[in-house]
Amino acid sequence: MPTTARAASLKSEAGASLADATWLDTHPPSAQSILAEHPQNIALFLDCDGTMLDIAPTPNEVSIPPDLVDLLSRISDGLGGALAILTGRQLAEIDVLLKPRRFIGSGVHGSEMRTAQDGIIDSVAPTLPGSLVGEVLRRTQKLPGIIVEPKGPGIAIHYRLAPHLKDALEATLRSLLTTYPDGLVLSPGRKLFEIVPAGHSKGTALETILALPQFAGRRPIMVGDDVGDIPAFAAATRLGGSGLRVAGEQFGHDDIELESPTHVIDWLRSLAMALQV
Ligand SMILES: [Mg+2]
Repeated sequence: MPTTARAASLKSEAGASLADATWLDTHPPSAQSILAEHPQNIALFLDCDGTMLDIAPTPNEVSIPPDLVDLLSRISDGLGGALAILTGRQLAEIDVLLKPRRFIGSGVHGSEMRTAQDGIIDSVAPTLPGSLVGEVLRRTQKLPGIIVEPKGPGIAIHYRLAPHLKDALEATLRSLLTTYPDGLVLSPGRKLFEIVPAGHSKGTALETILALPQFAGRRPIMVGDDVGDIPAFAAATRLGGSGLRVAGEQFGHDDIELESPTHVIDWLRSLAMALQV
């Protein structure tokens, strides 16, 4: 069956809306072609916030699509377990959002790893110095609307509620980092800055996970929406797969394969149909 016809058939079986079907039909075919070309042979790597979940005013306010956990579980089964979450959050937070499942994955941009479903979370980078966390909290105290989120090996500083403070915040954090030894980097994201360990990324995490038995030999597909996902897009491409970019504040509509988290969920439903799970 031709790619577009098969994709249309899959969409129709999955019950996607007419608007979604129109978008998929008119969009460049990478997202569709993955569904049509031996999807059972992929290894799927998924970012969460901004990819499967709509961005919320604060990280605690995200809502989880009602069928998401079941959908991810079925796809993981259909891929022989080759599904992983690659997130900037701590994996323990993801476990709360996606309970009761605890998927294979990596947290804090490659600084945490879980290499077996329901397995323990390993820290592969040290926890940030308490003095650094304290200084970030102290220096941002006078910046109303800034939310500081310590997360073990990293720390996120959100300015979504105060976007006018972006430049002042960046200057404050860059100045602070000069007083700490090398090994930490300031990384921008969607309305946030993160201080994270150098040398770890979603790209290093993807490479490590792809070497696990249930992932090995598969075509890696990374789905993400932000700067932190770019190393994983690069790693997936280098290892014979590809990346699917989700539109948002980082990637413009001319540069993306999936239009929104809603389209990502529709694509995942179509993937489950293609895998017959
Ligand atoms: Mg994201």
